[in-house]
This record gives sequence, C-alpha cells and structure tokens, in this order.
Amino acid sequence: MQTTFSLFINGQAVQGDRDAFPVINPATEEAFADCPAASPEQVDQAVAAAAEAFKTYQHTPDAERKAMLHKIADLIEANAEELARLVTLEQGKPLALAQMEVGGAIGWTRYTADLDIPVKLIEDSPERLVELHRKPLGVVGSITPWNWPLMIAVWHLMPAIRTGNTFVSKPSSFTPFSTLKLVELINQVVPAGVANIVTGEGGIGRAMTSHPNIQKIVFTGSTPTGQDIMRKAADNLKRLTLELGGNDAGIVLPDADLDKVAPAIFQTAFLNMGQTCAALKRLYVHESQYDDLCQRLAKIASEQKVGPGLDEGVTFGPVQNKAQFDLVSELVEDAKAQGGQILSGGAPLAGAGYFYPPTIVAGLSDGVRLVDEEQFGPVLPVVRYSDIDDAVARANNNVNGLGGSVWGTDIEAARKVASRLECGTAWINNHAEVLPHCPFGGCKMSGFGLEFGEEGLLEYTAPQLLNISRG
Ligand code: NAD
Repeated sequence: MQTTFSLFINGQAVQGDRDAFPVINPATEEAFADCPAASPEQVDQAVAAAAEAFKTYQHTPDAERKAMLHKIADLIEANAEELARLVTLEQGKPLALAQMEVGGAIGWTRYTADLDIPVKLIEDSPERLVELHRKPLGVVGSITPWNWPLMIAVWHLMPAIRTGNTFVSKPSSFTPFSTLKLVELINQVVPAGVANIVTGEGGIGRAMTSHPNIQKIVFTGSTPTGQDIMRKAADNLKRLTLELGGNDAGIVLPDADLDKVAPAIFQTAFLNMGQTCAALKRLYVHESQYDDLCQRLAKIASEQKVGPGLDEGVTFGPVQNKAQFDLVSELVEDAKAQGGQILSGGAPLAGAGYFYPPTIVAGLSDGVRLVDEEQFGPVLPVVRYSDIDDAVARANNNVNGLGGSVWGTDIEAARKVASRLECGTAWINNHAEVLPHCPFGGCKMSGFGLEFGEEGLLEYTAPQLLNISRG
C-alpha cells in the first residue's frame, strides 16, 4: 500500500516546504505514515495555479467535464480497496464501512457527472428573450473534517470541477491521505492546475479563507471554525457553503413499532461511531415505551464487536482522535454525576487505541451537557417525555438545526410533528440518510447552503442574466 504522499500544485506532485508530520492510527495510537506540510507560500502557489487554470478550464465543453468526472469515478473504482484501507488506517472505521464510503464516493461522482446545469427561460416574447445562465465562480477552496474524509472531499470537489471551477483542497490533518490520493487520481484526468491540494496546520486553512483570489469556500467542520471562516470571507465577499455541527434530536411517538425502530435508531445514532454530522444525537422517547426502548438499544450496543477496523468481524471502531475521545469520556462522566444511568458501555476500553464502546445513557433531561452539546461520538442520551408539544419544544431548544427525526406508525401524525422541527432535513422512521439527489444542509448554527442535487451544484455557480432585446 502507498505510504508516501505529495501535495499537488499545478499538476505536479510536490513536497511540502515545512516538516512532514506523523498521522496517527487511532486503533493503535501509533503513527503509520508521514504527511507533507505546506507553507503559506505554497498555498499562494496553489491558488495562483488554480486561478491560471480557470482561465481556460471554465470554457471546457460541458460534455467533456461530464466525461472527466466519469473517468475519475473509474479511477476511484480501480483504487477502491487501497482507498478503503487508507480510510480505515487514518480514520479508524471498520473496513466494511470504509468500503461503503468509497462506494459512496464513486456513486456521488457519477451522479454529479450526469447532472445538467440548467438554463432558465425567464421571458420569450416579441420584446425580448431573457434567460438565466449559470457561470463558474473561479477558484474554490475546500476545507474538510476527519469523520468521512474521502466522501466529504468528493462532495466538495466533484461539483466544483463539474461546473467549471478549479480548486484548492485542504483536508483535516488527522485524515489527509485518502484526500491526497483522491486529488492524485483527479490529476490523472483534469488539466494541470485544476486540482490542487495543500495539507498542514499553522495557518494553512486561514491562508485560504482570507485569500483574495479564492472566490468560494466550501467548508464542513465545527461551528466555531465556520464562524471564523465567515469573518475572513468578508474581505473579498467569498461565497460560502457551511456544513457545521449538529445536535440532531429524534422523537419516538407512542405508536412506534419498537421491533422496527430500535435497530434503525441504533444504526443512525452510532453511524461511524457517532462521528457523523447528521447522526441522531439526542433521543426523546414517550414514557409508555421508554424503558422497553432503552433496554433494546442497550442490548444492540452490547452485541457490537469493538476493535481495530481492519480486524475480521469488528463492527465498531475507535474514536478518531484523542481530543474527541477525551470529550466523549468527559461528557459521559458529567452525565453520570448528573444522575444518568449507564445501560451499556460507559467507560473507555483498557489498552492502546481510542476505543469507547457504544454507550446508552438513560435518566437524563435537558440542561445536562450530554443532551445540550454535540457529543460527536459513541454515546446516546435517551430522554423521557410525556407530552409531544414539550418534546418538540425541547428538540428545537438548541442552537443547532442540522437534522431531526420522528419515529411512529401513523405517518400523517409523524409528518405533523416533523414539520414542526427546526432543521434542514426532517426524517420519518429514519435519520442520517444522505443521498446524491437530495439537497442537504443545515439551518440555525448548523450553517447554510446546500450540497447535492441540482441545488447543491448551483452553489458553485453565479447567475448571469442574458437579456436579448427584440425591439
Ligand atoms: P474542525 O472545524 O476542527 O476542522 C475542520 C477543518 O477545518 C480541518 O481541515 C481543519 O484543519 C480546518 N480548520 C481549523 N481551523 C481553521 C480555521 N480557523 N480556518 C480555516 N480552516 C480551519 O472540525 P472537525 O473536528 O474536523 O470536524 C468535526 C465537526 O464537523 C463536528 O462539529 C461535526 O458536526 C462537523 N461536521 C459537519 C458536517 C455537516 O455536513 N454539517 C459533516 C461532518 C462534520
């Protein structure tokens, strides 16, 4: 397997100007490869290369850009096994889930390839023909987090090149390799300078967000970083897509069929060890089924096989990094001190690796950190309610607004509750499902802008109205 990686600037593989840094495998706490580190000057070079390439790439015929994306999908497919192993080594997730991530990356790339950029007819009259066209923006800066490193990079980068932009990518320093590999593959297909990547900390992200020659930042990560990016972006009025933190609530109605919903709730709360922006992070259960559902969730949790993602039969990997692992431990300890009952898990596993077993905490209410804050890890607080209006009010009483869900048998009743949730996606009898054709994004402090589908694609364009006088 490839263990040395380069930056890509202007179509060339280049070494970082700064000292390479080790990337830790969260299953062992040991470094497994070194990542190149760019200097701010290399960020400037990458942006300059992207700006130069944009002059011609923006005019590439649409059909050619579609074909390029399909070729990139072919290359991801040809390198699928290596990419999946890289994702597991750097991110920690079980190999089967990493393979699903690579499958998602291929699917999203092909779907984006086939999307059309619409021209909207505004007026066709004897006086004038008016059409609304879409033009690419220029250089797009992509900044990505560590939870779904390959897939989120694909979500950012494919619409950029599909619409005729060029890009500079900066992955998380916790999980840089799958994105470095992806950009290496993209460079086999696109003209030099279209696809650039820089890695490292120490102001590299900020050098991008304050760069005068970047026209848009697409960012997925935490809300405080998103706020910082928004401040920096003001200088040259960068377009922004901000996919930020979430603290999604799920509400289980009294008529829910627990045989069906318990496994689905577990799956959507603990997807990727709970390190998923739109995972179910607070569960409100009607008192009539509260104890029963808590027991069922705890049973499913105790059946998970926790271990290194490359080991056979493992269903649950480590938390990705030490800081997140410590946060999860801290929130669980605080919940215990506030009277929370631990029904499964509740303490880190001994030995190397950031292993924290899936943890179900009952007996809590709002006002406790584990309920109010985003845990972004393998622990789910289950909160009892008796009145649905109160449950909806508590679900909405949070600064975040990414997703929410309602679980029940009477779909019309569930739909009424779902329509009252303050969030970008409301699921019924599901949660955390994202699809290439379904626009996805948050509201409130979870950010703004959409990804996926035509709406997501158009975020990489600026409208231009064409008004042809017939007078
Ligand atoms: P983070 O904000 O710490 O880091 C994200 C990226 O931003 C990294 O590449 C980091 O190097 C870079 N960065 C950090 N400070 C920066 C700055 N001042 N300027 C520019 N770049 C900077 O987030 P994280 O810990 O990697 O990811 C976890 C968070 O991401 C969670 O809150 C989670 O909910 C959120 N997330 C949201 C979505 C979504 O779609 N809404 C998806 C995945 C993750």
